[in-house]
Amino acid sequence: MRREQTKKVYVKDIPIGGSNNVVIQTMTTTKTKNIEETISQINTLATAGSAIVRLAILDIEDANAIKEIKNRVNVPLVADIHFDYRLALICADNGIDKIRINPGNIGNKDRIKLVVDKCLEKAIPIRIGINGGSLEKHITQKYGVTSKGMLESAKYHVKLLEELNFTNIIISLKSSDIYKTVEAYRMASREFNYPLHLGITEAGTLFSGTIKSSIGLGILLYEGIGDTIRVSLSTDPIEEIKVAKELLSSLGLYKKPKIISCPTCGRIQYNMFDLVNKVEAYLEKIDSNITVAVMGCAVNGPGEAKAADIGIAGGKKEGLIFVGGKIKRKVKENEMYDELIKEINIYIKKDVS
Ligand code: SF4
Repeated sequence: MRREQTKKVYVKDIPIGGSNNVVIQTMTTTKTKNIEETISQINTLATAGSAIVRLAILDIEDANAIKEIKNRVNVPLVADIHFDYRLALICADNGIDKIRINPGNIGNKDRIKLVVDKCLEKAIPIRIGINGGSLEKHITQKYGVTSKGMLESAKYHVKLLEELNFTNIIISLKSSDIYKTVEAYRMASREFNYPLHLGITEAGTLFSGTIKSSIGLGILLYEGIGDTIRVSLSTDPIEEIKVAKELLSSLGLYKKPKIISCPTCGRIQYNMFDLVNKVEAYLEKIDSNITVAVMGCAVNGPGEAKAADIGIAGGKKEGLIFVGGKIKRKVKENEMYDELIKEINIYIKKDVS
């Protein structure tokens, strides 16, 4: 897939932009000052596949907590700060790897310069995070809450940093409206060479937010736009990572096992939903590009799932294992899961060797 070439920006050792993979990130939901809880959640999120983790920094206690947190986790951390430039300075001194702050919101030029100088000294990037719901007054007066307004807001904040010779920048232009978000990112990708952090903000619950994010982010990623993504859902951030991985994997932008399964119909003669859920749970632990099919019947199953590397089509009291669309052997119904897993493991070993 063709991807827009952007400037490469490092968040600790993770490159964002250029021709690098789209980076998955999420945000903790703990109070950052609750150090133990925060560290535990960061480690859980990192293990689940979040390459970068962002934390909300609300006050000095949160900013001070970064020191110990940084000492005890490996994944790069981002401090999410609104308005208070002093919090940005403390976080940078405490070893944070990136700061999300909008320079236009932190007061006069002297304060912006203090933050910029500190980020230059520590070699950490700044993400300008435009949010459709909180555009500056001078922007909304002229453009309203529109994609153009979001772009103009981004240009305003970028200019403030560039005037101070700071270009270690990442930009996001999030809105809860898919149309506005997509248009804003399209315009930003034409306007800037800086890497883009994609997101649909306040997307909703696990179900509705997943659909909304998949449409919005899917359109952009399909067009080659986006260097890092955060799926925002009103649920455990672990789910955000799962959705992000699936989204990227569906577009061939992330290496992860794929599962193909039929919707079932009147031809089904076994408990396929149970089997497919168990197989999916198993595949989640595997690092491979394998595509596995779990199909409802042997009449159409192998044919419908030709693209799969390995598959199974259940029937009455037995199932057919197929490899590369061709039937390999019959297995008993109560052995279907174990036999399929055996074949998956044989395939993975061959694939690696
Ligand atoms: S594979 Fe068989 S059970 Fe599944 S939808 Fe197709 S025909 Fe129906």
